[in-house]
Amino acid sequence: MKIVFASPEAVPFAKTGGLADVAGALPKTFAQMGHEVTLILPKYRVVDEKRFPLNPTGITLHVPIGQRMESAGVYSADLTPNFKVLLIRQDAYYDRAQLYGTPSGDFEDNAERFIFFSRSILEAALAFHLQPDIIHGNDWQTGLTPVYLKTLYRSSPLAGAASIFTIHNIGYQGLFWHYDMPMTNLGWELFTPQALEFYGKLNFLKGGIVFADAVNTVSRKYMEEIQTPEMGFGLDGVLRDRHEDLYGILNGVDYGEWSPASDPFISKKYSPSGLSGKRDCKSDLQRVFGLTVREDIPLIGVISRLVEQKGFDLIAAILEDMINLGLQFVLLGTGEEEYHLLLENFRQKYPKQIGMKFAFDNALAHKIEAGSDIFFMPSRYEPCGLNQIYSLKYGTVPVVRATGGLDDTIEDFNPISQAGNGFKFKDYSASCLLETIKRCLQVYSNRPLWEKLMIQGMAADFSWVQSAKAYLKVYQDTLAKKNQKPSGR
Ligand code: ADP
Repeated sequence: MKIVFASPEAVPFAKTGGLADVAGALPKTFAQMGHEVTLILPKYRVVDEKRFPLNPTGITLHVPIGQRMESAGVYSADLTPNFKVLLIRQDAYYDRAQLYGTPSGDFEDNAERFIFFSRSILEAALAFHLQPDIIHGNDWQTGLTPVYLKTLYRSSPLAGAASIFTIHNIGYQGLFWHYDMPMTNLGWELFTPQALEFYGKLNFLKGGIVFADAVNTVSRKYMEEIQTPEMGFGLDGVLRDRHEDLYGILNGVDYGEWSPASDPFISKKYSPSGLSGKRDCKSDLQRVFGLTVREDIPLIGVISRLVEQKGFDLIAAILEDMINLGLQFVLLGTGEEEYHLLLENFRQKYPKQIGMKFAFDNALAHKIEAGSDIFFMPSRYEPCGLNQIYSLKYGTVPVVRATGGLDDTIEDFNPISQAGNGFKFKDYSASCLLETIKRCLQVYSNRPLWEKLMIQGMAADFSWVQSAKAYLKVYQDTLAKKNQKPSGR
């Protein structure tokens, strides 16, 4: 198949969260399976041109933004055969220190930046004669692409392509005031509750959901959850309307990046048949954070965006109880300042038991995965979650809340039957989390049982090939459905 995969971020070029891991790995897997894939993303300042040289393609795109015409250069990067990467260079929009905003808020021109991006994807597909079967967009930053495809581009050479839209987190919708509508060059007839309007505002994510030929999200459980008023962030009704074209495909993991047997960032490599290297990784991690270096102290790790979704109110509520249980705790994260301040207070009080770094640091993320005994994800909601899956591979036992992809990937360990790969709790409450940690520590104190649990986790296979096959089936079914239907929405 010919696939255009568009994402506002992708490893190894630019990353703020799990979407970048997906957008780096899934198209690459399609390419390895023999499909012809083009990944399209903006060229931000963080793109490291020394490591990944970019080649000017000589193509300039022209995209109308309201009455103006904005232009962009297109650069290409060659990673693997069959896998073309195009980066849209428009420095006024993308040459900034961050991708979407600063810690104090989103960039004010995000509507314009991603109207431009959503439309450049189609302009690039035309300019490079990609003739795609599938145009696959991801998250609100590409939400208008399916809208354009069904409206302004419905008579273009792209008209035969099926559009797929993946929701990686329904909490981020790209909501803008209606004064931004003219910049889209879409008619006001689309500013209705049936199309782009959301309580008087313009909603890019809704555009993707309503106009794409198929809609997907990143776990089966999350697909069910977002169709409920409790977890749909106001879009549950729109999603229920589309339930026949709605899929939930679990993300995979790129074990080329995340495996303790080959990880270049960790102090000693290890595998299920030789676990001793993990001890070195633990003492290395304790040293990095200035904690007491002792093998027998259970060490809990967290790597996360510091936002409400991730359960930091629960963690803050029980952090001192955890210290009293004799645990150590390390955290790597960036995000909202209120959480930085809240958590930093605890670190100052317990510097030998608590380590924190408020930064984005990929190498340290790998060290935490390898050096921790236990990994925490007490999320309020979690579309898929990747770190719990990485943790399994590193023999780092996940403690998670039973929501979204966490529920789909983690099975609560039963010390009697010895089935399961982690620990899981249902109610979003600090006491449930604490009770679950205590259950976890009981198993930790029985080393042979703990190692069994670790090894069970390490054996799990969440590689991308399975997910890629599921996506290809959705692509094929959607194309077939589209070809049966008379044209139009
Ligand atoms: P989300 O996409 O909601 O942020 P995921 O668990 O799906 O959550 O993916 C998060 C990804 O971002 C993981 O690869 C994780 O290791 C990485 N990550 C998050 N915060 C940091 C950080 N501060 N430094 C390095 N990597 C981080």
